[in-house]
Amino acid sequence: MYRLLSLLLLNCLLISCAVNPVTGKNELSFVSDAQELSIGSEQYLPSQQSQGGIYLVDPGLTRYVDQVGQRIANVSDRQLPYEFVVLNNSQPNAWALPGGKIAVNRGLLLELDNEAELAAVLSHEVVHAAAKHGAKSMQRGLILQGVLLATTIGASNSDYGNYIVGGAQLGAQLLTQRYGRTAELESDSYGIQYMAAAGYDPSAAITLQQTFVELSAGKDSSWLTGLFSSHPPSQERVDANRASVSALSPLLRGDLELGRERYQKQIAYLRQKQKAYSAFDKADTLKKNNEFGSALRHLDRAVEEEPGEARFYGLRADIHLEKEQYRPANIYYNRALELDPKYFAYYLGRGLSMARLGQAENAKRDLERSNELLPTAIAMNELGQLSLAEGDTTGAKNYFQSAMNAGGETGAAARDAFTRLDLPDNPAHYIEVAPFLSKGRLAATLTNRTGLTIARLDVTFAANANGENIQRSVSLGPLGAGQSIQASSGFRFSETDTVTNLRVVVTGAML
Ligand SMILES: [Zn+2]
Repeated sequence: MYRLLSLLLLNCLLISCAVNPVTGKNELSFVSDAQELSIGSEQYLPSQQSQGGIYLVDPGLTRYVDQVGQRIANVSDRQLPYEFVVLNNSQPNAWALPGGKIAVNRGLLLELDNEAELAAVLSHEVVHAAAKHGAKSMQRGLILQGVLLATTIGASNSDYGNYIVGGAQLGAQLLTQRYGRTAELESDSYGIQYMAAAGYDPSAAITLQQTFVELSAGKDSSWLTGLFSSHPPSQERVDANRASVSALSPLLRGDLELGRERYQKQIAYLRQKQKAYSAFDKADTLKKNNEFGSALRHLDRAVEEEPGEARFYGLRADIHLEKEQYRPANIYYNRALELDPKYFAYYLGRGLSMARLGQAENAKRDLERSNELLPTAIAMNELGQLSLAEGDTTGAKNYFQSAMNAGGETGAAARDAFTRLDLPDNPAHYIEVAPFLSKGRLAATLTNRTGLTIARLDVTFAANANGENIQRSVSLGPLGAGQSIQASSGFRFSETDTVTNLRVVVTGAML
């Protein structure tokens, strides 16, 4: 009994049985508050990067969104180091990381009518953070699984989602996950309470959902990926919010505000430049379809409307890079970096361009800077190639190894490059061996587990037969990627032989 008690106590100490600060419910918590805070602060910057970076042209807008957010944060049930930023992304989306690190896309701000609707978006996200919804997904094991990584990030709107490697993958997963229906309803209903407590008219939570329902009606599925894949607009949600607001109404003060005029004034600049961003988005799509000329014409229009936006020069540079016009590419990457020196994609692009121009040192510096901001398989792979060109095999192996977990062609290329370097040292690691006896003859099936053709394989068969150690090596090949071949040892045993210590080892491989 004593032992059981102490075990329970130990479990509680390790896992921590805690009251949820928002719902007041008792729950097990595997992720400590300190872990939540460190995940939030470690993942905030790379997550911003992977979703378009900070919207810099009108810095007053991020300050304003942060002010509204802090007003909500002040009334939340859990004090966290809340932060709110506006991301340079046209998709209507908002997200929260554990620890209160929140972001809203400029594309969403344009769909809102007043400050109270913004407060509705932000308080919903504040509840996700305060009620530990992200931490709960982590402990349910929804996160940190390779399968989920491949599918969710693949479906996200970030071009670089598939290429994120290392620790930043956690952030990418956290912000594309689904919390589940209960958590979403919880965020809606407590969010409405927070709005009212902060002095906002909570009916804005109803109009916000109505707007989403109307918007989603005419849109294609790509528009519906971000916020609305995890928060499908529905009449049910409108109705639920209406019920929450009317349940709250007897308690409401008279001076609750919508803040329409203030909001419209704050987003006036962004609205004025909307045409520029539409042209940019169009150019981005055209570039993906290799319609470079048409893409560049749209970018001309975008720059004409808004000469201060770094992304426009960045995309122009990307187009030149793809057309193998490295000098103009560098000119536009430089221009983009003058306007925004904290966005990884310009360093990444310029690094690739420098590498093509044979400027290895410049290329390395840019690619490393790009990785500091957001580690990508593209940069790792290129750094691997640069190390290889210098004869630094160990360095090259490390870079390729970091890149090979990524999906798609980049990951596969890194895996092949790593295998090329590692196969001669560790041939047994790449060849599956299945020994068998057939009519007394010792043989083995060898399977090439790499994506490369192996020109020659050396296999050693060894055994102890009737007290005598015997050994024989054979060479065979070529063996194509993923293919199997049978190797015969030449040893033949009869039923009266005593055979022990049978071993079949791949001792060498050559590409
Ligand atoms: Zn949500």
